[in-house]
Amino acid sequence: MGEILDLAHVRLTDRPLAVCDVDDVVLEFFAPFQLYLESLGHRFLPRSFRLHGNIVSATDETPVEDVRVSQLILDFFEAQEAWQTPTTDAIAALKRIGAEADVVFLTAMPPRYTQIRRRLLDSLDLTFPLLATEEPKGPVVRELHGERDLPVAFIDDMAHNLHSVGEHVPECLLIQMVPPLDIHKLAPPAAPHVVRVGDWTAASQHIDSHFTGTGAKA
Ligand SMILES: [Mg+2]
Repeated sequence: MGEILDLAHVRLTDRPLAVCDVDDVVLEFFAPFQLYLESLGHRFLPRSFRLHGNIVSATDETPVEDVRVSQLILDFFEAQEAWQTPTTDAIAALKRIGAEADVVFLTAMPPRYTQIRRRLLDSLDLTFPLLATEEPKGPVVRELHGERDLPVAFIDDMAHNLHSVGEHVPECLLIQMVPPLDIHKLAPPAAPHVVRVGDWTAASQHIDSHFTGTGAKA
């Protein structure tokens, strides 16, 4: 999108770094987005792992045009405070991780919605720094972490984000948080070097052992 991502406000300490996606990792996304669609007379049909082409009229299943789908996603980001709630155990897990490590949220969202998301996360007492960008995540994590000789972990639900970070930050522990949603059964699988977990309890265990050097990577 050509927007310059400002990393200057993110101050890291000499502790391990956990970079964490937000949608469907820290905040529920897909389930409330479906409710949002239904409130507007639309419906998502789980035919493939994409929103465009699969959102239809609830009454006659006429497909919603691509430009309108793109706008619905943006409108949902605008309205997120009324719809999105934390995923199970996310708040407690992140606070515990954040006591021993730096945590940075890296969310795939147009930067102009940063303040809305900031408010929502703050209202949940999740005050860790937040970066919103539509650029690939790997270069962002590389720039954040630099060449520091400290453990780094990245948590996301999307395989392409995990692969991007793995390419640019090969030393990073990659954790795929797979939401308990039918739609994710249609998602492209992550490569074998990505650790797949179903909840924050399992994610925390992998992150802890990576940060303390006591566990295997996968
Ligand atoms: Mg996500």
